[in-house]
Amino acid sequence: MAASTNQLTESTHAHGYDDYQRMAFFTDTSVCIGCKACEVACKEWNRNPVEGYNLTGNSYDNTGALGANTWRHVAFIEQDNKRITKAREEGAKLVSLGMPTIGTSPADASAPSAPADTTPPDTDTFRWLMSSDVCKHCTNAGCLDVCPTGALFRTEFGTVVVQDDVCNGCGTCVAGCPFGVIERREDGGVSLKANHVEAQEVPEHAGINVFKKLKQLRPQGPDHTPGETMPIKNLGVAQKCTMCYDRLKMGEQPACSKTCPTDSIQFGTYENMLSAAQERVAELHRQGQTEARLYGANGEDGVGGTGSIFLLLDSPEVYGLPPDPRVPTADLPAMAKTFAKAVGAMGVAVAASFLVGRGGK
Ligand code: SF4
Ligand code: SF4
Ligand code: SF4
Repeated sequence: MAASTNQLTESTHAHGYDDYQRMAFFTDTSVCIGCKACEVACKEWNRNPVEGYNLTGNSYDNTGALGANTWRHVAFIEQDNKRITKAREEGAKLVSLGMPTIGTSPADASAPSAPADTTPPDTDTFRWLMSSDVCKHCTNAGCLDVCPTGALFRTEFGTVVVQDDVCNGCGTCVAGCPFGVIERREDGGVSLKANHVEAQEVPEHAGINVFKKLKQLRPQGPDHTPGETMPIKNLGVAQKCTMCYDRLKMGEQPACSKTCPTDSIQFGTYENMLSAAQERVAELHRQGQTEARLYGANGEDGVGGTGSIFLLLDSPEVYGLPPDPRVPTADLPAMAKTFAKAVGAMGVAVAASFLVGRGGK
């Protein structure tokens, strides 16, 4: 179970899970090469509609943002020498402040104290920041808190998942997410590009007709007919990353982390991912990369920390992430108290005016 500062709002006991282990992502953007294999693997596994092949004009980003159809989004941020220097200086200030998510890992703390080489590496004249964003699977999830039908639930892996057949498409969760992740699916389309399976005039290799074999292996039917546009499922339903709940149930890891060729996306228990992130940021600081910082690793933040932890090389805003996310329902107790006080005050005022009115007669 997570540390006391990072308890899930929805008690696991209340859900009756006998077997509970919070699982998490650690996305290390310092080794992301922008190949988008994670985006593709996610769409393929979850059969999510394509968004078209448009160029957004924003470097090599062609999906733009997370949404109902894009559950992993790889951002491309181009930076010049000036911005890189600024990121490094800002990061250096955070390091000297001793921020809770940055610093020497426990493993290093026990090591003999060798002076760290903090000489900054040569500043590049240009760099691409590439980062694969995803649902944060928040410790305190606003989407889940506000869902009126119970369609969103906390799984035995500590993740937040939508039950497609329970969601009524009201969209309340969309406003409840401080990261702008969840969205109702409105349109799109999935096209299997060519009817390769019918092209059977292909010579056999080692006695095997590859296309015939494919036809046997690939599921056929109205939803999977090659050459035809697939019907879009879950139209009008709120959609987002499930941390591949179906794969986790089978003891597999999510499709995106399985596919990532550089281990930029790592998957494991929450505790292991948190310590991997802390060790990595300490290592980068030792190499003089003071701009490295963690996002989502602080259990004291406005969402109680996240199940998707990121290592960033600039401030969160640069990546389109809110610098200080806050679950909207955090203010509910205070609002309820204020409401009760206002109702009480109104009651007193009405009673007083009634008494004054009677006294005047
Ligand atoms: S990031 Fe948004 S959609 Fe994901 S769990 Fe948190 S509140 Fe819900
Ligand atoms: S965990 Fe699964 S659903 Fe979530 S982004 Fe990765 S591949 Fe997509
Ligand atoms: S698969 Fe890995 S390296 Fe490729 S874009 Fe995604 S996170 Fe980056």
